[in-house]
Amino acid sequence: MFSYRHAFHAGNHADVLKHLVLIATLDHMLEKETALTVVDTHAGAGLYRLDGDYAGTSGEAAEGVLRLVADPKATPASTPAAGAPAKKAAQEAEAPLADALARYLEVIHDFNAKGGARVYPGSPFIVQHLLRDHDRLKLFELHPTDSRTLTANIAQLEAGRQIAVLHEDGFGSATKFLPPPSRRALVLMDPSYELKTEYGRVLDFMAEALKRFATGTYAVWYPIIPRPEAHDLPRRLKTMATKAGKSSLNVTLTVKSSKITTAPSGETRRPGLPASGMFLINPPYTLKPLLEAALPQLVQKLGQDRNAGFTIDAAG
Ligand code: SAM
Repeated sequence: MFSYRHAFHAGNHADVLKHLVLIATLDHMLEKETALTVVDTHAGAGLYRLDGDYAGTSGEAAEGVLRLVADPKATPASTPAAGAPAKKAAQEAEAPLADALARYLEVIHDFNAKGGARVYPGSPFIVQHLLRDHDRLKLFELHPTDSRTLTANIAQLEAGRQIAVLHEDGFGSATKFLPPPSRRALVLMDPSYELKTEYGRVLDFMAEALKRFATGTYAVWYPIIPRPEAHDLPRRLKTMATKAGKSSLNVTLTVKSSKITTAPSGETRRPGLPASGMFLINPPYTLKPLLEAALPQLVQKLGQDRNAGFTIDAAG
């Protein structure tokens, strides 16, 4: 337990999918004036350096967000255009970025005024960046070091009562904030799945959360790996949503084959995380068309072999 550190994975393809969905969901929920509470049950450290030791060691961001910011077509509109006129003309001839992808990159750019992505915002900073003064953010982080880092990072925002950082078990105690006084909430559940028992804990949490607050919006990230519990999770979440009479949306992004290969030297090569998904209960109705436009572009930009692809399954 607690060997997982998100700093090694920040900005990878799974973060890109997760945060793109998070931003698209929040943008819609924040159109209503009524206060919104966001509960982030597994918050991480909040902010990451992609030029630091952790990210450099894993190299995962290079196959994720850094592919997008290195792509000239992916430069947000607010950034001065670079390159020769011919290059610019060629860029303009190509399809424009899908709205949800452009918006994701705009948020990343907000944390990197000089361009690129040296700083990668985790879910707490992405959410706080979008929230209005009267909204609330509850952050759970159990890792002793990451919890301290998160507390220090959040303190710099001087956000006062808007943000609460809790060094508590997100599975065990985050439902205490449901329903919030305004009866509007988004819950992001993004565990590290270090233990296979965590899949069951996600389901237990969701059952309890839906009992307390059936109209909340819930977003669960999960890895797509050859493990029965991981395979079953979206199916069981869908059954839960259907039984509760709630709509759901399951989006997956695969960037490469999951096959373990053997190098000519005889060395076994594990592919690393090949795919992940986000399962939402009570998603905004705007989310599906946004993802239908953005996911083909993500596959094109982040795909590493011919197994790359996406699925979107909406129900209810
Ligand atoms: N949501 C973050 C983001 O998008 O930037 C990343 C979170 S990371 C995948 C999962 C985090 O959950 C890790 O920082 C880990 O220390 C923490 N964690 C593990 N078990 C936990 C628990 N039971 N309650 C709260 N946090 C936990």
